[in-house]
Amino acid sequence: SKPILAVVGRPNVGKSTFFNRIIGERKAIVEDVPGVTRDRIYAETEWNGREFAIIDTGGIEASTDDPILSQMRDQAVVAMDMADLILFMVDGKEGLTTADIEVGAILRRTGKKVILVVNKIDNPSKMPDTIYDFYELGLGEPIPISSANMLNIGDLLDEIVSGF
Ligand code: GDP
Ligand code: MG
Repeated sequence: SKPILAVVGRPNVGKSTFFNRIIGERKAIVEDVPGVTRDRIYAETEWNGREFAIIDTGGIEASTDDPILSQMRDQAVVAMDMADLILFMVDGKEGLTTADIEVGAILRRTGKKVILVVNKIDNPSKMPDTIYDFYELGLGEPIPISSANMLNIGDLLDEIVSGF
């Protein structure tokens, strides 16, 4: 079966925007996987002839009154169980948050390969100074992208398919 990329990150960092841009017009497939219950969460795609599946963990249902942090923990656990590769997305406009640090620590302990992606870098010639804070996550060099403007997405996809 196809390798699975799970996109993890706190709400509003741009996970669904990224997912939708990557899958394009392809219809998301609803998988019969526990926890992955909603539409537009799982899709199969390819890059340079390499097929893979992508999961938007932000769409994984949690009980409605769950605090954000425990939802993120649940998402990280699902990602760890299912994924061959984890894309941890953070927000370059907001900068590093305590929730990022906590989830980053969980992901670091998985032993799975994690790609750290800083979204919302809409103008790469004006890289915010706060981007260097993300090195503190201990997940290697952050890859800046703009999902909205489709910037650096090709380089990221190269990194993803070579990471499987
Ligand atoms: P999710 O909660 O992580 O799935 O985040 P969404 O994909 O729903 O995006 C949250 C907000 O961030 C929306 O208003 C998006 O339009 C915005 N957004 C997503 N990607 C980018 C980006 O690359 N740049 C900017 N400026 N905004 C973005
Ligand atoms: Mg979302």
